[in-house]
Amino acid sequence: MGKQQHTFDVYAPPPIEFARAEGCRLYDTNGNEFLDCTSGIAVNSLGHGHPHLVQTLKNQADEIWHLSNLFEIPGQAKLATRLCDNSFADRVFFTNSGAEAMECAIKTARRYHFAQGNPERVNIITFEGAFHGRTITTIAAGGQEKYLEGFGQKALGFINLPFGDHDALKSAIDDETAAILVEPIQGEGGIREVPAQCLRGLRELCDEKGIFLIFDEVQTGVARCGKLFAHQIPNVEPDIMALAKGIGGGFPLGACMAREEVAVAMVLGTHGSTFGGNPLAMAIGNAVLDVVLEEGFMDAVNDKAILFRQHLAELVDTYPDLLEDVRGAGLLMGVKAKVLNLELVAAMREQGLLTVGAGNNVIRILPPLIISEDDIRVVRDKMIAAFEAVRAAQKA
Ligand SMILES: *Cc1c(COP(=O)(O)O)cnc(C)c1O
Repeated sequence: MGKQQHTFDVYAPPPIEFARAEGCRLYDTNGNEFLDCTSGIAVNSLGHGHPHLVQTLKNQADEIWHLSNLFEIPGQAKLATRLCDNSFADRVFFTNSGAEAMECAIKTARRYHFAQGNPERVNIITFEGAFHGRTITTIAAGGQEKYLEGFGQKALGFINLPFGDHDALKSAIDDETAAILVEPIQGEGGIREVPAQCLRGLRELCDEKGIFLIFDEVQTGVARCGKLFAHQIPNVEPDIMALAKGIGGGFPLGACMAREEVAVAMVLGTHGSTFGGNPLAMAIGNAVLDVVLEEGFMDAVNDKAILFRQHLAELVDTYPDLLEDVRGAGLLMGVKAKVLNLELVAAMREQGLLTVGAGNNVIRILPPLIISEDDIRVVRDKMIAAFEAVRAAQKA
């Protein structure tokens, strides 16, 4: 395959060339088969080549690809209505990515306070280990030094606090605070869940202080955690939310969702996007919801998650030298490793099983939501083979 000489060297892919994909499986150019527990980082929610998505994309391609928001785009009203009918939100702005959905969420919070005559309320409180994207603003929101280094002055207006330090949080809120921003479950940070009572506490604090609660559900959303949105599990609603990854099923699509009262501040001309909400993306987003909102789909996700978690818990018991614990919700799962997580990711890949590393030495397991119970057992068997190989190599 050779090194990709003309692309930025910011990624380090393993030496595999994928040629084809179907359902939960990827095939390389040598015909090797891989079970995909990455789902393109929680993106291919319905697996690869889902017939309804493929047909929808083909049909839309025959009609209209792109219009720009100069014109009313077919599918936007429908997708926005469905997202709102199934959530806290009343208004949606469509983007192409998670970082852009976050940018819109941040702008919406600040603009509301500006419109209320409080232009000084710009600060957004975020938490250690957070990940909100890679734009200049969202690296400031995430606050992680490794992503900020070398890119000039950190964007102003973000206060990064330790995870779970309630006193630090209370004293950080002042007259310049606009919002608290949090992932209900940190994804890149290592599948770190914010306990339900803490989410409730954040909600109460925001109400008391007159500031917004923003959830970043870019990774957790769209049935990944067993409900359409992860915050619907503890039933704590945000004022503003960012969404992306799973909603496009592999087509670049994101959304910023907000309550009516908040969204009205985003008046004509305050925001926009050339590609955001384009007809292809809208068709696919609607097609993803056709499947995910079908009666029984999320029950099936939850049933599969229970089975999957049982297997993972058994593996932690069997390999206490390699694995520490299992975490997550629904099919957003993590296993904390005791050896280097990427070593285990590589060992699993050798067995034809693809997983993703995360912060805190965690291995993320993000199968397509359509994975079958049989394939969950295949995943377990491949993990056993991988962990045995790691043990054998340690003894040698
Ligand atoms: C992936 C991710 C983002 C960024 O999304 P991009 O599409 O890569 O810009 C933001 N927030 C969370 C929680 C994510 O997982």
